[in-house]
Formats: sequence, structure tokens, C-alpha cells
Amino acid sequence: MKLLFSKEVIARRIGQLAARINRDYGERPVVLVVLLKGAQLFAADLCRHLTCPVRLEFMRVCSYGAETASSGCPRILLDLDEQLRDCHILLVDDILDTGLTLHHLSRHLRQHQPASIRTCVLIDKYERRQVAIAADYAAIELQQGFVVGFGMDYNEQYRNLDAIYCLEAEDLAKESHP
Ligand code: 5GP
Ligand code: MG
Ligand code: MG
Repeated sequence: MKLLFSKEVIARRIGQLAARINRDYGERPVVLVVLLKGAQLFAADLCRHLTCPVRLEFMRVCSYGAETASSGCPRILLDLDEQLRDCHILLVDDILDTGLTLHHLSRHLRQHQPASIRTCVLIDKYERRQVAIAADYAAIELQQGFVVGFGMDYNEQYRNLDAIYCLEAEDLAKESHP
């Protein structure tokens, strides 16, 4: 595993991103719709920098099992339990990769008739994009690679690492148990 972004770099980037969000939203209340499980650590840090009124909601979708490539349309495993009509939604995910997850979820969330929907990701991994979607807010840009740590997993491992690492070919071949 190769270190890509240290915890200090991540903290600085999240702080800078939060400053942009604070400027853009002003006093307007925002609903963070956080995608479990990968975005939870990012959202926890981000929301503590936000100065507008913040509500936290969670969804869980699955697009990947043990693979590292997208399987197409994400399945909703946990949906919102309340309507978000007239709310300002900030959809928070760990990584924007092919774009399929955020594309489908933005469409799904439009059924709530929110006042606005914007997307916010820890990492914008731009090389494999399949649909025309851009993150409104991204803390880190990355061309390619499969990353873990800071909430992100490979086979449910590594979410607890406090920095972001790139998995290399030999890590992907290895079994995930010790
Ligand atoms: P997309 O639908 O944009 O292809 O994929 C988004 C989802 O794929 C992310 O929420 C994340 O769960 C997963 N994903 C994409 N790239 C990576 C990666 O490099 N590492 C990890 N751990 N997950 C990834
Ligand atoms: Mg995800
Ligand atoms: Mg995952």
C-alpha cells in the first residue's frame, strides 16, 4: 500500500472545502445526505467546520461487492425516512468515480422536490467517468487508482486508517484476512 494523502493534508483540504461551502450557503440550512459506509468519516469532519444550520441524514447504496469496478445502477439498501421538500441537499460521498452512483441518486432525490441538490465528495477520481456529472465540491482530485482509508474500504477492510492509501496489484491479489 502506498501513502497518497496524509491525515494533515486531508484535514487541510476538508477545511478549505468547508470554507467554500460556508461562503456559498451563507445562513441557509443544509441537509447533508451522507452515503454509508464510505463517506461517514469525511462527513463527520466536514460537518464540524460548517457554519450554517446542518441536518444529517444517511443513505446506503451498493454498487460494489468485492470488486473494484462499478456494476452499473446502484441499489438503495437504506433510504431516507423523511421528505426533504424545499430543503437544500448536499449529497456527500467518498469518491466520485464512474459517476453512476451520484447520477442515479441525484435523480432519486429530485423526487423529494428539494430547493437544490449539490454534490460533495472527498475524492474526485476523474479518469473513469461514464456519465456527465461533476462534483460541485471535491476536497481532492485524483486521476486513477483504487484507494482505501479515511472511511474507504477494500472488502470492508482499511476504513479506520487515518490517511488515504493506494492499493497496489499485490494488495488486490492478497486475501483480506491477516
Ligand atoms: P461511481 O458510481 O462513481 O463509479 O462510484 C462511486 C462509489 O464507488 C464510491 O462511493 C465508492 O464506494 C466506490 N469506489 C470508487 N472508487 C473507489 C476507490 O478507489 N476505493 C474505494 N474504496 N471505493 C471506491
Ligand atoms: Mg460508496
Ligand atoms: Mg466500498
